[in-house]
Amino acid sequence: MSRVDDDRFFDPVIETMPREEIERLQEARVLQLLPYAYSHSPLVREVWDAAGVKPEDIRTLADFREKVPFIDKDIIRNFRDRHGDPYGGLACAAPPKLRGVGFTSGTTGDPTPLPRSDFHVAIAGLKRELWHMGVRATDYFTYALFTFREGMMTDRWLDSGMRPIALQHSPDQMPYLVQVSRQFRPKAMFMLSTPLVMALEHYQKNTGDDLREAFSSYGGVVFGGEQVSPHCRQVVEAWGLEIFELTSLGDISTAMECKAHDGMHAWEDLAMIEHLDPSSNASVADGERGELVVTALLDDVAPLIRYRTDDLIRFTRKPCTCGRTHGRFKPIGRKGDEMFIQGRSILPVDIFPLMEQFPEAHAGLFQMVRPQREMDALTLRVGYDESALTDGAQALGARIADTLTLTLRVPVIVETVSNESLLKSGPPHKIPRVVKA
Ligand SMILES: [Zn+2]
Repeated sequence: MSRVDDDRFFDPVIETMPREEIERLQEARVLQLLPYAYSHSPLVREVWDAAGVKPEDIRTLADFREKVPFIDKDIIRNFRDRHGDPYGGLACAAPPKLRGVGFTSGTTGDPTPLPRSDFHVAIAGLKRELWHMGVRATDYFTYALFTFREGMMTDRWLDSGMRPIALQHSPDQMPYLVQVSRQFRPKAMFMLSTPLVMALEHYQKNTGDDLREAFSSYGGVVFGGEQVSPHCRQVVEAWGLEIFELTSLGDISTAMECKAHDGMHAWEDLAMIEHLDPSSNASVADGERGELVVTALLDDVAPLIRYRTDDLIRFTRKPCTCGRTHGRFKPIGRKGDEMFIQGRSILPVDIFPLMEQFPEAHAGLFQMVRPQREMDALTLRVGYDESALTDGAQALGARIADTLTLTLRVPVIVETVSNESLLKSGPPHKIPRVVKA
């Protein structure tokens, strides 16, 4: 079988492209993008001029890695505030190319507006993921969106023949999700998050409905917003669903696990990935912990170039058993979320598995309170399930504090609040894991 006909992939030529070809493709796209971005994006021009770099200085990927200046969220916000430009100087195009506006999820700081073009990079990647989960032309999949924004436009799926069933990403829509699952027998579910799993669990408890039966047509479910907690995984797998975790690829696109479940694939034809030391510009070794830095390769409306995402990842380009050749990573947390308690580094990822042992708190809703980066004690706000309390919220807090102090080997202070009130603090698909107060 030639690569072109490999039915395992939506786009076999791209998905299994040899490493050298990916690099050549990236180089061609970067060299086309840079002069365009420099002449059209006011932010890129300002940053490059300040660094004394011109597009003609960049002739290879090696030049790119050596010379192109970085941008980050603060640089974009700063430009936005100085110039009163809602796009932070990123927009390269005006209508008709600029077709709409999307937003980042805004868990840290205010949501950043992202101008959108006709070609939607995230959907280009998602078609490959859904195919991998078993969706083919004429198959339905459920498509729960955070807001009625660009993704709602179902014509973006036409070329694939896949049929989205649009829902809102909201806990109160879950009975409807169950209903359309029975009516249309969709092949994939996009996507669940902690609040939606809690709502479905609740629905099942109250109605006695058999969700394993309702969800029996699905080849898999995408889970995103944040990492799946052990409890959520157990609940979702009990419905007979295989979980594919999804994360953001630095606001350019998304990255998702394959059936190997050993990292999330980043599509390197759509985005160039660098994996750098968080406090310098040095490249980090394959598999080690570094900061994700991305460059959008197919975006002529608002391309991010060498964008420091603040996301800490472990990235590898070692071949994956699924047959794809694109790199994959495991998210660790956000650089800006890291706390040092008496010198010891703590991230939300360290707390997640510890919540399992407390049935009242096993939904895994907790927040790290981070007034500053370095503290003498870790303050945690922990959500509890009212109906599961045995000896009161205060006693639960004391038990959690004692156990975590022993496990993490730093002083831990616990405040308890109900799950319901914690859920109110977040966007629909997650709660902020790190808060100032
Ligand atoms: Zn894979």
